[in-house]
Amino acid sequence: MTTRPEDDQALDYRDLNLDLHIFATDPLIGSGLPLWLPAGAVIRRELEQLAWEIAKRDGCVSVYSPVLAKRALFELSGHWAKFSVDIFPPMQVGGDELVLRPANCPHHATIYAAQAHSYRELPLRLNELAPMFRSERSGVLSGLSRVRQINLDDTHVFCRPDQVASEVTRALRSALGAQRILGLPVDYVRLSLRDSSPNYLGTDDQWFQAESALRVAAAEVLLEETVPLIEAEGEAAFYGPKLDLQVRDGRGHEESIATVQLDFNQPERFDLTYTAVDGTQQRVVMIHRGTVGAMERVVAALLERYQGRLPLWLAPVQVCVLPVHPEQDHGARVLMDELAAAGLRPRFEPEGSLGARIRVSRQRRDALIGVIGPREAAAHTVEVTDFRSGFKATVAQHSLVEILQHSHATRAAQIAWPEKVVDSSAPLESIE
Ligand SMILES: [Zn+2]
Repeated sequence: MTTRPEDDQALDYRDLNLDLHIFATDPLIGSGLPLWLPAGAVIRRELEQLAWEIAKRDGCVSVYSPVLAKRALFELSGHWAKFSVDIFPPMQVGGDELVLRPANCPHHATIYAAQAHSYRELPLRLNELAPMFRSERSGVLSGLSRVRQINLDDTHVFCRPDQVASEVTRALRSALGAQRILGLPVDYVRLSLRDSSPNYLGTDDQWFQAESALRVAAAEVLLEETVPLIEAEGEAAFYGPKLDLQVRDGRGHEESIATVQLDFNQPERFDLTYTAVDGTQQRVVMIHRGTVGAMERVVAALLERYQGRLPLWLAPVQVCVLPVHPEQDHGARVLMDELAAAGLRPRFEPEGSLGARIRVSRQRRDALIGVIGPREAAAHTVEVTDFRSGFKATVAQHSLVEILQHSHATRAAQIAWPEKVVDSSAPLESIE
């Protein structure tokens, strides 16, 4: 068991990881390169699925791009000049200098450029759950929060200037919607503007247009929300202003978890155009949007937010099935099969005393425990404990499967236990 700090009940995600086994690090792999253990991979897969569903509903198409590119790509994009200190040193391969990408945007810009586009087919929205790399010093690396490979739910929208407002609105709504599903409260939306430093690309006119577009779209979306908008100078990306969804972690540190960025500069640098109604080539606008965010960061935030006790749809183990005696192994296996066939994640735990197995399951923060004794086996019921709500009852096995399947499919924050789930044919007293 982990110890809780005296003055603060909340555990850090690294402490929780000792019980949940989400990620591991290995000196042979290196600092800042976490390994996703099976329990962590379950959470990540659910997040990837959510990210893709939102992207698809927003009309995004899926693309894949390599993590390497020539240094020349990032010289063209401006990343090399701004961030070369954070880019892994180039690899000499033949006559080429290849680098691990520090951002996915230039690859997506070249995907746009690979085909001709007319005004009628825009907007084009490219989505990829894409890894990008930062060559941070070993000293600053930690767990999931400071890493050298960031796996980002990343979308780049290419649209006409007259489509910017509706695209920003759509992106901001989806980003707020994703955080609502995750149950991560957004403190405020930050309109991140440039300051007077010379570190920004683009003209004053472009910046003025971009900032106005973001301000108008944010005002429209936030009218429907209780989230405030706060403007902050000096927080913009080097290529344009952005809207950042700001959350606070368990220790009160603030961070951006999702973002919508307007970019008039990359299209200039990559000469990205579309054919307008009059047949001329016009400059396209690029919008960088994230909804779920970076896998590493969001998993750390979720662990701390729920103190490891994740909602059913995210829980690595959804039901820990515990037969009381070996005679109930068969009955427990039958329930396991039904839960698995329904797309759920049960775990069979037969060895050791019942008390010890319950302790292990609780420590691992399994969503539910389902105990099957002789009466439950005979009546096809299971004694269920839902640790998040405190619900405890003997439930018909087929009802349990249905209730959990619904909770998982709807990504419910809490399992909606109906008033009457107890099988009337089963004895109501619980097992000893
Ligand atoms: Zn981008």
